[in-house]
Amino acid sequence: MINEWDNEIGSVLFSEEDIRKMVEKVGKQLSRDYAGRNPLLVVVLKGSMIFAADLMRSLTIHCEVDFMIVSSYAGKESTGIINVVQDLSTDIAGRDVIIVEDILDSGKTLHKLKALLESREPSSVKICTLLDKPTGRKADISADYVGGIVGDEFIVGYGLDYDQKYRNLPYIGVMRNS
Ligand code: 5GP
Ligand code: MG
Repeated sequence: MINEWDNEIGSVLFSEEDIRKMVEKVGKQLSRDYAGRNPLLVVVLKGSMIFAADLMRSLTIHCEVDFMIVSSYAGKESTGIINVVQDLSTDIAGRDVIIVEDILDSGKTLHKLKALLESREPSSVKICTLLDKPTGRKADISADYVGGIVGDEFIVGYGLDYDQKYRNLPYIGVMRNS
């Protein structure tokens, strides 16, 4: 055994090389679209931290970074409440904001987060997600920048967790029993 998790992963969906290519693709798009604008990357913790770290280093433009921890109140989506566990330390008024997500699934959290950020009067808010799971969508939202598309399987690695574990896998895989 070379590590503690290989026996628990059924298959590798995206290798380190696959991920590198996805990040590079999105990085090029952002560098082109935001040239000269110094965007603020809003990283939604914890899942997006690894993607954000690689994404920032693929950008060839100036950018800034800040972090947020949010959660939705389960079963109370219709109230539109988003629970901000940790807010930004940056005033985003007049800024070009790019929300950086690990995976866009139902979109419920991101839908509310986008509305919250827009209420602070930034110049723009766009969504950049490493992965998009369109079959899971329940809210009216789409990402502006997408690394790759996935089906409805539950995936882990490269920031994505199962019960807080597996975030440190360098690749993205499907759990053996999922
Ligand atoms: P939603 O779009 O449903 O509001 O929330 C998306 C969040 O659900 C992601 O940021 C991620 O934390 C979690 N999520 C959705 N699909 C998966 C998955 O396949 N694997 C893991 N580990 N987390 C997921
Ligand atoms: Mg997340």
